[in-house]
Amino acid sequence: MSEVAYERVQMNLERLRLTRIGDHLDGIAEEAARHEWTYLQFLDQLLEAEVAARYERDVAMKTKLAHFPFVKVLEQFDFAFQPSINERQVRELATLRFIAQAENVLLLGPPGVGKTHLAIALGVAAVAQATSVYFTSIADLLEVIHRDAKEDRLAHRLHTLCKPKLLILDEMGYFPLDRLAAQFLFQLVSRRYLKGSIILTSNKSYGEWGDIFTDQVLAAAILDRLLHHSVTLNIRGQSYRLREKRKAGVFTDFAEPEKEDQPV
Ligand code: ADP
Ligand code: MG
Repeated sequence: MSEVAYERVQMNLERLRLTRIGDHLDGIAEEAARHEWTYLQFLDQLLEAEVAARYERDVAMKTKLAHFPFVKVLEQFDFAFQPSINERQVRELATLRFIAQAENVLLLGPPGVGKTHLAIALGVAAVAQATSVYFTSIADLLEVIHRDAKEDRLAHRLHTLCKPKLLILDEMGYFPLDRLAAQFLFQLVSRRYLKGSIILTSNKSYGEWGDIFTDQVLAAAILDRLLHHSVTLNIRGQSYRLREKRKAGVFTDFAEPEKEDQPV
C-alpha cells in the first residue's frame, strides 16, 4: 500500500473512531499476507477486532455504572455450605432469562447466608453480557431520596432508577421505612413492573413487610407487583461470616438465627 493510502486509511479510521482497527491494522495485514487470506477474511478479522473492543469498553463502562460495593461471582459460592439453596435454580437465574422476561428475584434469609453475594454475582453475570445494572442498598437509597426530596429531584431519581435493565436493592428490612420512602419504592416497583427486573434481598419474610413499611396497604401493593412475576429464594441456614469466625475459634457453637429473622 502506498504511503499516501496508508495515511488516509489511518486518518479515516480515526475519523470513524475505529480505534482498535487502527491499532491492529499492521499486524492483521501481515497475518493476512502470511496466510493468504481472502479480502473477505481480512475484512472479517478487522471488524471482529473492532466489535470485540467495543464490547469490552461497554462492559467496563457498565461495570463502573453498576456501583457494585465489591465483586463476587457464582464460582466463589459454596453451594454445599448452604443446602437450602437450590443450585440448579441459581444456575438457571444465571442464564439471565429472568432479565429478558423482566422478572424479579427475591433473596430472603438471615444475615450472612449469601444474599448479597448471590445478588452481586447475578449482577456481574448480567454486566458481562453488557446488560445495564445498578446496585444500591436500601439505606443508601433512603439517604439519596431524602436529599432529592429537599431539592425537588425525586421524579428525576425515579426516572434514573427505571433505566437499568436490572436494579439490585440490597438489605430491605433492617430498619423501618418512612412514608416518603415507602411511596417512592411503590412508584419505583410500579414503574419497573413488567419492564425491568429487580433483585431484592431482605432479612424479613413477606409476612413482616407490613412492619418495614408501617403502612400495611402500601406494603401489600408493593409486594403484589414485586411478586407477580418473580422467583423467591428462601435461604435458611447458617451465616458464612460466623463460620469463618468459628473456624478461627471465636465461637464454640452456633446460635440459631433469631426467630424473627427467619423468612416464612
Ligand atoms: P448476606 O447478604 O446474606 O448477609 P453476604 O452475601 O454478605 O450475606 O455473605 C457474607 C460473606 O460470606 C460474603 O463475603 C460472602 O461472599 C460470603 N459467603 C456467604 N455465603 C457463602 C457461600 N455459600 N459460599 C461462599 N461465600 C459465601
Ligand atoms: Mg447482605
